[in-house]
This record gives sequence, C-alpha cells and structure tokens, in this order.
Amino acid sequence: MEKTQQLYEGKAKRVFATKEPDYVSVSYKDDATAFDGKKKGSIAGKGAVNNKMSNFFMQALERNGIPTHFVQQLNDRESLVKKVGIIPLEVIVRNIAAGHFSSRYGVEEGLVFDEPIVEFSYKNDELHDPLLNDDHAVALKIATREEIAQIRSSALQINTILKEMLLAVGVTLVDFKLEFGRLPGGEILLADEISPDTCRFWDTATGKKLDKDRFRRDLGGAEDAYLEMERRLLGDHGSAAEE
Ligand code: C5P
Repeated sequence: MEKTQQLYEGKAKRVFATKEPDYVSVSYKDDATAFDGKKKGSIAGKGAVNNKMSNFFMQALERNGIPTHFVQQLNDRESLVKKVGIIPLEVIVRNIAAGHFSSRYGVEEGLVFDEPIVEFSYKNDELHDPLLNDDHAVALKIATREEIAQIRSSALQINTILKEMLLAVGVTLVDFKLEFGRLPGGEILLADEISPDTCRFWDTATGKKLDKDRFRRDLGGAEDAYLEMERRLLGDHGSAAEE
C-alpha cells in the first residue's frame, strides 16, 4: 500500500499515512539513541532487522491469541500496521535483573526473579518517562483499571510466549518493553515493536549480550549481534513476510 504524508518521526521509526485511513506504514531507521536521547548513533542494518523480527514475533503472538497491530510486511524496512492511539505507557517485563532495575535498586545484573515483574513508565519525553503504578495511571486517565489489568495480563502472556521462542534458539529473554494502542472502538492491541532495541537478549550458553546494550555500553559488535538474532530466529533470509 502506497504511503502518503509523514505523520510522525520518532527516534527509530517514521510513521506515514496511507490511502487506507485505518492503516499506517511504519518505516524503521538505523538511528540509535540511548540514555533519554543523550547518546546518538546508528547501527547499520538495524532498521531491517527490527522490522522483520518484530513482524515475526507479532505473527507468532497473533497465532497465540494476542491481538497486535501487524498487518503486512511491505519490504525489508517497512510494514503496514493498524492505526491505533498509543496508550502512553511503557510496559516493561523483567525476568532477570539488568539495566535500570539493577541501578535503581542496587541489585547485581543477572539475579533471576522468582516471578516476572511488570513495571509501567509514563511515556513522556519531557518528563523523562517516570515510573508509575496502576493508581497513578488511573488518576492521570492514561487507562482505566480494567484496561491496566488487561495490559498486565497480556504482557505476562507475551512474556511466556517470547521466552519459549527464544529459549528454542539459545537466547534468554532478560527483559523487554511493550507499547499498546487503542483502535477507534476501544479494543486494545499490542503496537510498536519487539526487537533487540526493546528487549535484552542474552546468549544462554555464554551470557553474551545480543541487543542494544552493545550500543548503550560501547561493547562493540552491535551490528553483528542484531544480525545474529535475526539469523537465529528467522534463518539466513529473514523471511518473516513469506510465512
Ligand atoms: O532501561 P531499563 O532497564 O528500564 O529497560 C528495560 C527494558 O525495556 C530493556 O529491554 C530496554 O531495551 C527496554 N526499554 C525500551 N525503551 C525504553 C526503555 C526501556 O525499549 N524507553
């Protein structure tokens, strides 16, 4: 489907209108940012990996009964998705301590939690995405209590599905971030992306980081890590569209 005017440009994606009012086209960029946008750079080939991998995960989630915004992969970097109103919540699921959990609570990276943790941040660049709980979200009218319960339950189901898919290719799912959106009728769908930009992936055998932490922490080899994740999940051709 042909894209028309640009609606939005984010840090890692551009969103375009299409001739079909219910659908938008998302175009993934190689640009990478970290630490609240203070660190900027790029990871060659990232846009294509994230597009294909995110589509691959969304299709698997759909097969498992999770409604997502995914419609169709258009090319290596672009996909057609349902147009939703994004709920301004970053929904983070953590299986193992890392990143901000470790720094915020003084816990060493690698501590395996007995149960997954679901955490919410208010998606607001000016306020630097502050942590918030269910009561805050309801008070701020970001979502109703029922919607929050639905989002939490969906996030945990997604965690179970993704963990299993990744374990099968020798990757441990440490944590990840989801975003949900509403269709005009109010139905909540999984939106945004699921990729090495939004997840922490550790090689199960060696502990090697296969995600954006390679860029955030200047570990080197970010391009290779993204390609390695694509190869493990999608094979050499990254043919998510052909499923
Ligand atoms: O930084 P933090 O430890 O809170 O990140 C938890 C998970 O959420 C990581 O997988 C990270 O990639 C993801 N995340 C994200 N976008 C943000 C914040 C976190 O994708 N704005």
